Amino acid sequence: MIDFRSDTVTQPDASMRDAMANAPVGDDVYGDDPSINALETWAAERHGFEAALFTTSGTQANLLALMAHCERGDEYVCGQQAHNYKYEAGGAAVLGSIQPQPIENEPDGTLSFDKIAAAIKPDDFHFARTKLLSLENTIGGKVLPLSYLAKARTFCDQHQLQLHLDGARVYNAAVALEVDIKAISCHFDSMTICLSKGLGAPVGSLLLGSKALISKARRIRKMLGGGMRQAGILAVAGYKALTENVERLAEDHANAHYLASELEKLNGFSTSGYPVQTNIVYVDVAETINHTRLQMRLMEKEIRVSLSGKPARLVTHKDICRADIDTLIAAIKASH
Ligand SMILES: *Cc1c(COP(=O)(O)O)cnc(C)c1O
Repeated sequence: MIDFRSDTVTQPDASMRDAMANAPVGDDVYGDDPSINALETWAAERHGFEAALFTTSGTQANLLALMAHCERGDEYVCGQQAHNYKYEAGGAAVLGSIQPQPIENEPDGTLSFDKIAAAIKPDDFHFARTKLLSLENTIGGKVLPLSYLAKARTFCDQHQLQLHLDGARVYNAAVALEVDIKAISCHFDSMTICLSKGLGAPVGSLLLGSKALISKARRIRKMLGGGMRQAGILAVAGYKALTENVERLAEDHANAHYLASELEKLNGFSTSGYPVQTNIVYVDVAETINHTRLQMRLMEKEIRVSLSGKPARLVTHKDICRADIDTLIAAIKASH
């Protein structure tokens, strides 16, 4: 199966499975899992934070960050398109009693500081207390400029806000910018990383932050049922993902550019409005093309795409090579 729906479909490779099978493990709820401890210690140092926490998912890592930074009745400012506003089942509001204050994202994925400043509530009992700014990088495949991140840090210091990064795909941003990850992470009070997307681990995310923040997050993780026992089996996969699968993200980006240019040549497909920056390709599919039927024809050829979005989204990852893209393009040509 060639699967373009997301980079979450990546399969752990043989050497990762081998490391998992042989991982030294213990009960992580007692703090006894050597592989979890090694990953958390290494990841904190590698990304320039005091501490790290392994979590079940990116959604959980974001929720822990929001709940550790904010108390009931506090508020976080985020993008209207932010994953931790739009796609996480309202967790911060439901479970944390934290009010989101979404701001329309600018076309480049950033949030305007003027709009954020206008949304920050004065210290007055009528209002929720504005505590945190949450950014996302990459957002919809777009990379936030480093100069913007530096301005966000200054802005948050001026307004006494904490600054969080939903960095589910932050390594795609670092690879696209050709910078070390610390050039991005250094601006933030906390950051999440998904190990289970383009980096190729089967399960898990990391939350990075100060010792105090992570110890608060560890308590909330337990409360949410996220205390896992011999989780070192997953941690070794995460460690391999972060140490072996970062540089190759450049191939995914090159393949995404190639995919966009090949789709653009097809009748009824247009990618020109969505310049590719990382591994996510957006495409307008003409109304005259029956999406459902095309998807089914492709399925018969063991190609999975999701064409229902407007625009539709295709994602490249380690289990898609250039020849797979040629296979997709040929199959679309043959199907309509
Ligand atoms: C995928 C994703 C998440 C959530 O990760 P899960 O592991 O699927 O819960 C959070 N933020 C962004 C930007 C994502 O793309």
